[in-house]
Amino acid sequence: MGFFDNIRKIKDEIDRVESSVYTGKQSLMEVYERNVKLEAEIAARTKELDTANRQMLTLQHIWDMMNSSKPLSSVLNAIVNSLQGELGYLHSCIAKRLVDKDGIYLQLVACSGELFGNSFLERFNCDPCDLRLKFPDIEELSNTIEHNRIYHSKDILSLIRSVVPDVSEEFVKDLAKTTNTKSYVLVPLSYKHSHFGSLLVFSSREEATENELNFLNLFAKQIELAITIADLFQAVKEQAITDGMTGLFNRRYFEEFIKKEAIRANRQNQKFTVIGLDLDHLKRINDKYGHNYGDIAIKAIAEVLKSSCRSIDIAARMGGEEFNVILPGVDSQGGLIFAERIRKTIEAIQLEKIGNITASIGVGTYFEHSEDIDELLELVDNAMYSSKRNGRNRVTLATPITEISWQEVAFSTFVDILSKHRIPIDSNTSKLLDTKLNEMSINNDIVYQVSDELVSTYNPEHEAGGTKRKVILATLLAKRFDLPKESIDKLKIAILLYDIGNTMLPKELLSKKEPLSEEDKVSIKQHPIIAAREILQPISRVNDIIPIIEKHHENWNGTGYPANISGEEIPIESQIILIIDSYFALMEKRPYRDALTKDEAIRTIMDESNSKWSDKLATEFVEIVKEDI
Ligand code: GH3
Ligand code: MG
Repeated sequence: MGFFDNIRKIKDEIDRVESSVYTGKQSLMEVYERNVKLEAEIAARTKELDTANRQMLTLQHIWDMMNSSKPLSSVLNAIVNSLQGELGYLHSCIAKRLVDKDGIYLQLVACSGELFGNSFLERFNCDPCDLRLKFPDIEELSNTIEHNRIYHSKDILSLIRSVVPDVSEEFVKDLAKTTNTKSYVLVPLSYKHSHFGSLLVFSSREEATENELNFLNLFAKQIELAITIADLFQAVKEQAITDGMTGLFNRRYFEEFIKKEAIRANRQNQKFTVIGLDLDHLKRINDKYGHNYGDIAIKAIAEVLKSSCRSIDIAARMGGEEFNVILPGVDSQGGLIFAERIRKTIEAIQLEKIGNITASIGVGTYFEHSEDIDELLELVDNAMYSSKRNGRNRVTLATPITEISWQEVAFSTFVDILSKHRIPIDSNTSKLLDTKLNEMSINNDIVYQVSDELVSTYNPEHEAGGTKRKVILATLLAKRFDLPKESIDKLKIAILLYDIGNTMLPKELLSKKEPLSEEDKVSIKQHPIIAAREILQPISRVNDIIPIIEKHHENWNGTGYPANISGEEIPIESQIILIIDSYFALMEKRPYRDALTKDEAIRTIMDESNSKWSDKLATEFVEIVKEDI
């Protein structure tokens, strides 16, 4: 082989190697390019998976919420918050579709975070859920809502205008800019085959992908489910008749049962007895050992009641540490035996850590103590309260309504007003009165003292003993008009309570130095009368005092208030209160005038006879006050 042959051979070899390198490079390039593509695809798929995962988690979260039996409002709030937090929307809301005279509108019922930022809500001083979205100028939007279609729009300005119609265009633009909202989506929500409202999401992206809209649709379906379930929970709760903690019947059931029992008792002329029981010193147990131990004590009482009741008896937890039992066909003697047995059983219990517990009990019987359910329950409550006052851990039989003295009615009314916090009084006065009511037996003095104390909270000029003098005067006057004992008793109670509504007036108004404005006058005149009704109406034993109190500002000549009635239309008890109240007020100093002397006050009373009061009333009154006090 010659030299050239060798060269050619080597060149061929090189060509072969070169061409194979070239093809190798070619395929390498292809592989590389394929890899790049694949990687991009993997990244996209991962992102999709990630989003799907978040969406799944969000849906899972809703599902958990729905199983938690929370009220609908908190479920909806949690839902909108999860949508905002997990999926990067600026805000999301659920709005109810409502209609008024101007057409349909959406009212927000749940809203994530602070819609459009704090400054927006501050500026309009509102809760997001007070916001209404009216769409008079966005016809298309109204249409889509009406037709249950999904709606995506970039027209943020119109939306803002529809929420707050009375602001400048500049404000609207500013707000749109600061909120960074680029578009919003409305997704219809239906419930029970009708249109409930919409899910509303605000996005920082202009576009919404099909995927996103599909997800929102799916999300809306979950909200619909949440609404349905929450509604079912509510219905089930309303149908419940037992108390969750103790397994006894609940208040609702008790109230229904006692009504039916009264009907049965009337029909069969058969008595039934009600036992009212309150655990003693639960607050102390809670404070010393913790709430859990308080609960244990409550449950222990429930167990005693369960094991002591016959199958026809009804034991209910009325709330907190208060229990009632109905014993059908049982009279007060039987009721007392039952109550005493329960008291002893409770006293004998030994609880871990707490030791022994006690309860105070009241007993009342239908047909013996009262024939009115509300009144009977009040009498039982009073009897229970007597047990408390007399040292707790005891049983007290109710006093029949006909034998209750006016002092007892007044006393139990004060107890009711104070223990149920029907009036706002400062804690010192409240403690003072509480001690008085707890430590003293019922007599004239105690009811006068409590009344004096209450009057002093709104009238600093009121003197201790003033109420007693008023009651004495009223009684003397009533006798001159030959009022029967029953009316005089009502009058005495009314004297203790006629200005109770003043406790509801703002303090500033009562101590104003400058003359009162017309508005203030209306407030001072009307409000206490309305308040007195509100305070006393729930207390059935003083319901017949309310009309007397309501008319104690009516004048004989019809120039009084609130009803402008005149002459004999005004109950005599109300007329008596007016003249006595005016007489005492005249002798008290007011921020805008000095106190009058007794003689000056008497002269003023006489001057106003035949206008504020009748001549006869003024004459009789003046005769009495001149004689003594
Ligand atoms: P009294 O002997 O006068 O009845 O005193 P008391 O402390 O039992 O009564 P009070 O009405 O002053 O306080 C009742 C307390 O019971 C206040 C409240 O916090 C507590 N309480 C109400 N319901 C529950 C409950 O379900 N569990 C527990 N642990 N405490 C409760
Ligand atoms: Mg108690």
